[in-house]
Amino acid sequence: AEGSAVVTRFAPSPTGFLHLGGARTALFNWLFARHHGGRFLLRIEDTDRARSTQPAVDAILNGMRWLGLDWDGEAVFQFARSARHAEIAQAMVANGHAYRCYMTAEEIAAQREAAQAAKQPLRVRSPWRDADPATAPADRPFVVRLRAPQEGATTIEDRVQGSVTVQNAELDDLVLLRSDGTPTYMLAVVIDDHDMGVTHVIRGDDHLNNAFRQLPIYRANGWPEPVYAHIPLIHGSDGAKLSKRHGAVGIEAYRDELGILPEALDNYLLRLGWGHGDEEKISREQAVAWFDLAAVGKSPSRFDLKKLENL
Ligand code: GLU
Repeated sequence: AEGSAVVTRFAPSPTGFLHLGGARTALFNWLFARHHGGRFLLRIEDTDRARSTQPAVDAILNGMRWLGLDWDGEAVFQFARSARHAEIAQAMVANGHAYRCYMTAEEIAAQREAAQAAKQPLRVRSPWRDADPATAPADRPFVVRLRAPQEGATTIEDRVQGSVTVQNAELDDLVLLRSDGTPTYMLAVVIDDHDMGVTHVIRGDDHLNNAFRQLPIYRANGWPEPVYAHIPLIHGSDGAKLSKRHGAVGIEAYRDELGILPEALDNYLLRLGWGHGDEEKISREQAVAWFDLAAVGKSPSRFDLKKLENL
C-alpha cells in the first residue's frame, strides 16, 4: 500500500565513525525509498553539543557517498532547529498536552530510591501534572513534561517486530524541554520527522522503546503517525553486541585497510538481515527492485569479517 509518497530518513548522531550498523540502516532506508520511488533524507542529529564533532559529520557524509547512498535535498542539522522544537513544546503547554514541572532534584532522587527499593524502573510521577498552574512558583527553574496517557495501552504494528504492546502505566511524563530551555532528543526527533514529512521510520531496534515515548508526541499534536520498522542490530560472530573487536569501526577502515569495494560492502550489509531466495550476489538494481521490509529478519544478524574479506 506504499506509493511514491514514501519518505525515509537516516538520522545519525555525529559522535563517531559511520559504522557497519549505521551504514546498514542507511542502506535499508535508501533501498526502501528508491524501491517506492519516494525520497530518502539525511538528518544529522547534532544536539549533543559535547559529543558531536565536524570530523564525525564528514565521516558520515563521505561514508554514505562512498557507499553510493545519495540523499535527496540538503542534509538537515538538528541543532539548528532548536527554536522550532522549543516553540512546539510551548504550544503543547498552552494547549494542555504538556506542563511545567518544578520538581526538585531531591524529589526526583526520592522517587528513584523508592523505585530501586521496589526493584522497579523509575517512572517519574510529577505532582505538577495535575497542579493548578496558578500555584506555580515564580522564580524556580522548571522542565516541560509531556502529559502522557497513563491508562490503556499503546500498540505499534512494527513492520519488522510485528505487533508490540506496552501498558501506558509503564511510561512516564518524559521531559520535552530541559530547565535551560533546550529540547530533548525525544522531542526533536518527532518534530523533525514530522516537519520533514517522514512516512517510514526504519532504524535499529535499540530505538523500539523510544517509539512508545515518541508516539504520544505525534498524537498530542494531531500529526500523522509514521510506520515503524525496527531492524535487529548486528552482532559479532560470537553473538555479542558488535564492538570494535568485531568490526564496529568506521566503514572507511574496510576500504583503506582491507581494500573492500563499496559494492561488496553494500552487498554484504544487504544480506545481513535481508534475503532474496538464495541469491548470493545482488546488484544495486536488483536490490532496488526487490527490497521489502517483510523480508527483514527478526533475529540479530551476525557479522563475519572472514566472509566479508572473501567477497
Ligand atoms: N540519532 C539516533 C542514533 O544515531 C537515531 C534516531 C532515530 O533514528 O530515530 O541512534
